[in-house]
Amino acid sequence: MTPVPAGARRLHDNRWTVPVAALLREPGARRQVRISGPFAGLSVTGSRVSETDEVELDAVLESVHGGILVSGTVRAPWAGECRRCLELAGGLLEAEVRELCVAGGDAETTYGLQGDELDLLPIVHDACILALPLAPLCREGCLGLCPECGANRNVERCSCGTVPVPRWAPLAVLEGGASQGGRGRRDPAPPSSGVPSG
Ligand SMILES: [Zn+2]
Ligand SMILES: [Zn+2]
Repeated sequence: MTPVPAGARRLHDNRWTVPVAALLREPGARRQVRISGPFAGLSVTGSRVSETDEVELDAVLESVHGGILVSGTVRAPWAGECRRCLELAGGLLEAEVRELCVAGGDAETTYGLQGDELDLLPIVHDACILALPLAPLCREGCLGLCPECGANRNVERCSCGTVPVPRWAPLAVLEGGASQGGRGRRDPAPPSSGVPSG
């Protein structure tokens, strides 16, 4: 479990904390919770969840032997930088959670339980951190930047690497054949039509 950054609570009031005294008294009992709100500190190399967006937890709390089992889904919009074209990338992260919360349990494998209160914030935090993409793509099949001229190949076509510079047609390339997909042999240019060019 990653420690929740100190600043993370600033935004959160107590909305992620739920009273569970009644649940704890009745093993086997379940309770549905749906909580959403802004969340701070959700950032990894490559992507983040904005503090102005809403993170949502939809979960069932189940009273199990001495603790609460939290099962459900965390959803949040994320944004980042495409690893290929460096433009904005984004999407909706969705993470399944299934975590046991017990008082005084092993911090490596369980989350805590504070008396009759269950703080769901660390669970939501960890689920988002694990689900955020480290090297996002703006879309499947992003063409990325041209390694030679830096053009964004999703929005413009450059001629780097697309023109094989055939030995038999160097002039066609020099004359701008590339802009017309000049990969192959070009017909000889028509004779000047005689239209004055200026
Ligand atoms: Zn991209
Ligand atoms: Zn290029």
